[in-house]
Amino acid sequence: MSDDPRLQTDPSPDGGLEARLASVRSGISDAARAAGRPADDLTLVVVTKFHPASLVRELAALGVTDVGENRHQEAQAKAAELADLPLTWHFVGQLQSKKARQVRRYAHVVQSLDRGSVVDAFAPTEAEPAPRVVDGFVQVNLTDDPGRGGVQPDDVEAMVDRVLATGTIRLRGVMAVAPLDEEPRAAFARLRTISERVVALAPDATDISAGMSGDYAEAVLEGATHLRIGTAITGNRPVAP
Ligand SMILES: *Cc1c(COP(=O)(O)O)cnc(C)c1O
Repeated sequence: MSDDPRLQTDPSPDGGLEARLASVRSGISDAARAAGRPADDLTLVVVTKFHPASLVRELAALGVTDVGENRHQEAQAKAAELADLPLTWHFVGQLQSKKARQVRRYAHVVQSLDRGSVVDAFAPTEAEPAPRVVDGFVQVNLTDDPGRGGVQPDDVEAMVDRVLATGTIRLRGVMAVAPLDEEPRAAFARLRTISERVVALAPDATDISAGMSGDYAEAVLEGATHLRIGTAITGNRPVAP
């Protein structure tokens, strides 16, 4: 172990990374059982934002296959450094349309499609007539603050049409973050209803990305297929550089 405190991602009061990952995995199995769902319906996306590439490498060695990042430059650098690993990279942060074309070069899944302009940025251009196809989720705003990330529930159908029109995004479903001021299960129940509306337009888009460190069990009860879990596994995030 290094003497540099910044490299010690495991202060280990709770047994370290491996123990936290095992504890979340068993929590997910318990939640699946409580929901009467098979645990292999659930994809764990470990959100590694602010943590060094070395931590992502440790997670991969522990069997993690899917990782999530929310800032383009950081994600790009980590994906390049870890290109030897068979990881699926999920982009979960707010995306500027200018950056979308760059994100597509390393991200396999973009979970934060939250504006028409971002979706349109994935469409083919003269310079790039046959771009790589990415998987996409339409992010839905479950709060009553229109300034929060995601499209308003009423605008979901229009976003779905726009995503389908690009031809370069394979729509997987919906994504959301639970509001802070509401019981998460009630919010995830609304997301499930919105998901049903999406599936009516795009029958393959059955996935639901919901649930973080503090509320993944509630998300599993409401049909989540993708859990985006950070701190419960990685420990507290280092301060942004
Ligand atoms: C950071 C983040 C997460 C993980 O949050 P934790 O509370 O650390 O589990 C999930 N989703 C998104 C969009 C995030 O930005």
